[in-house]
Amino acid sequence: MPSRDIVLYPNPILRARAGEVDPSDSEVRKVVRDLQATLDDHVGVGIAAPQIGEGLRIIAVDATRARKPVPNHGPLVLLNPEIIAREGEITFREGCMSIPDFVARIPRSASVVISALTPDGIPCTIQSEGFEAVIFQHEIDHLDGILFIDRIAHARDLKPRKA
Ligand SMILES: [Zn+2]
Repeated sequence: MPSRDIVLYPNPILRARAGEVDPSDSEVRKVVRDLQATLDDHVGVGIAAPQIGEGLRIIAVDATRARKPVPNHGPLVLLNPEIIAREGEITFREGCMSIPDFVARIPRSASVVISALTPDGIPCTIQSEGFEAVIFQHEIDHLDGILFIDRIAHARDLKPRKA
């Protein structure tokens, strides 16, 4: 299960709508493993399949890797994730492995309910809040070709990432 290179902006796959997946497809299972391995190999709290060059609706989220402890569900890989409810507003500083040189404060929903399939094809519903909810929203955006820079309220909110 090899870690793969991260696709960088402005690669067009980052702007395409990713396709629904069938968990029993062996190719999908391979992408799930590679996505997990790639996240494990990088400093990051989430990744979406388009970032490893696959136009598939698969995300990996791991809020246990946040710098400060946050409420979380542990490491998760979700297939065909959908936000079915959202509430409130919250702003966090976001970055993206595909746009490594910048960060920005982005307004998001403070809590979300996600409906998805586990890698074994079992339907699940996850209620998440705070930083983990932000990660879910960022990664699910990737599946629709949306990047965090699209959600900046003002150009001045985009800052160079300090080393
Ligand atoms: Zn990203």
